[in-house]
Amino acid sequence: MELAAFDTTCMRCGKPAQLRFAGPCPDCVAELDARFPGVAREVEAEEYVPKVNVTANAVALKDD
Ligand SMILES: [Zn+2]
Repeated sequence: MELAAFDTTCMRCGKPAQLRFAGPCPDCVAELDARFPGVAREVEAEEYVPKVNVTANAVALKDD
């Protein structure tokens, strides 16, 4: 099964591009790759690490 490329615009430089996924165009991917060899995708994923500030105590302290 192969995904067909569709007409869209690069999410980074805004140029029209044919992509299989919404995101940066091949030019931008190459640029990011050159700047962060092999880590561009990981960096993107790690921006989403949630900071867990658990406030379970507030709930547990409910007294009745
Ligand atoms: Zn681009």
